[in-house]
Amino acid sequence: MPVTDAADASARGTRGTPDAADQAPPSPAYGPSAAALARQDPELAGVLDAERRRQAEGLQLVAAENFASPAVLAALASPLADKYAEGYPGARHHGGCEAADEAERIAAARARALFGAGHANVQPHSGSSAVLAAYAALLRPGDAVLALGLRHGGHLTHGSPANLSGRCFDFTAYRTDPETGLIDYAQVRELAREIRPRALVCGSISYPRHPDYAAFREIADEVGALLIVDAAHPIGLVAGGSAPSPVPYADVVCATTHKVLRGPRGGMLLCGAELAERMDRAVFPFTQSGAQMHTVAAKAVAFGEAATADFSEYTGRVVMNARALAGGLAERGVGIVTGGTDTHLIVADPAPLGVDGRAARARLAAAGIVLDSCALPYGDGRRGLRLGAAAVTTQGMGPPEMAAVAELCAAALLHGPHPDAAARLRGRVRELASAFPRFAGTVAGE
Ligand SMILES: *Cc1c(COP(=O)(O)O)cnc(C)c1O
Repeated sequence: MPVTDAADASARGTRGTPDAADQAPPSPAYGPSAAALARQDPELAGVLDAERRRQAEGLQLVAAENFASPAVLAALASPLADKYAEGYPGARHHGGCEAADEAERIAAARARALFGAGHANVQPHSGSSAVLAAYAALLRPGDAVLALGLRHGGHLTHGSPANLSGRCFDFTAYRTDPETGLIDYAQVRELAREIRPRALVCGSISYPRHPDYAAFREIADEVGALLIVDAAHPIGLVAGGSAPSPVPYADVVCATTHKVLRGPRGGMLLCGAELAERMDRAVFPFTQSGAQMHTVAAKAVAFGEAATADFSEYTGRVVMNARALAGGLAERGVGIVTGGTDTHLIVADPAPLGVDGRAARARLAAAGIVLDSCALPYGDGRRGLRLGAAAVTTQGMGPPEMAAVAELCAAALLHGPHPDAAARLRGRVRELASAFPRFAGTVAGE
């Protein structure tokens, strides 16, 4: 967790500003202190500082990442980090849960209001925990489930043999069209009629377009299946009004809180009031025990931020930037799966520049451009690149910078592994990234 000199100063309660808070009697130091960490554990402080520098000096294009606000980070480093609170507000297995109850009530109420959901469970430790809890609530071992195949952008929790989901349930994969990269709804319907799944899962780690939630609902209804939407990626855009909401269509929506949504690392579940009790029991006590109450508090802060006009404006800029970046890459000969994007996310095929996804990721990394490789929809194992525009948008970059980023990416791909060229590009990347310090003026030392 980033710790800052500003937080250190306020934790000490020093600095002679005429603030009322500063005139309160000094309380024992509590809260994150970069200075205390550096004194006590220089080794680990050095590791964290190197990470801080890496984040600040490179271009962060990992589509699942973002920069949480100082307010969100403060909640993460709050006294609730030390609190045990198994159970739900008003019914805990531990004493002293008054503040924890209040924080969770606020977080859940804000999530319900933000997404128009009858019920919100804000306790899942992660997106994966939320998905597994949704399965636990709605499925029995061995049930048939229809989900996007892993080679077409499905998540591990959508039936990978390397994941608990693949062991417990009988998954069948639908695919994206190898020509267009779009979900093949006719195939989804055909497979649904054939296997009669207990649940249909809609969600992907690399789908750059809006899923047609109404089509998924119709198919689910036709075969009597439940519809589970794993909206881990687009939920932040949904919060800002920049993507259609799955909430009116899905039986349950699983989500993360740390991607475009820009909150703490964590998960959540949204459903109708009729499923509330089943969902809650599936999270606690079935798949988790003590919720991370500091994270729950930080989720409340993030939901508060997401309800503002500033946040809507940010999600609009995220999509605008992703489109500008996709356009810039296409101009330089990079293939763009589906021909563009509706979201924060781009799937690019660098093959026309003579390099595959894995080598491309390494060449970009050498230049300080950080992103992921991902499956391309051709179904033949070829890999491409996944880029996201959320973090750079949070930093304040706009379309002119996206043009520069596209040019830097193309240069890094074309120059290949030559160390001199990579070092030169790295300098240009550092210059661009450093001109957009995240939360300029609010985080000391940047
Ligand atoms: C990111 C993601 C998850 C998992 O989130 P974690 O918090 O990493 O567990 C699940 N499903 C999809 C579609 C995702 O993109």
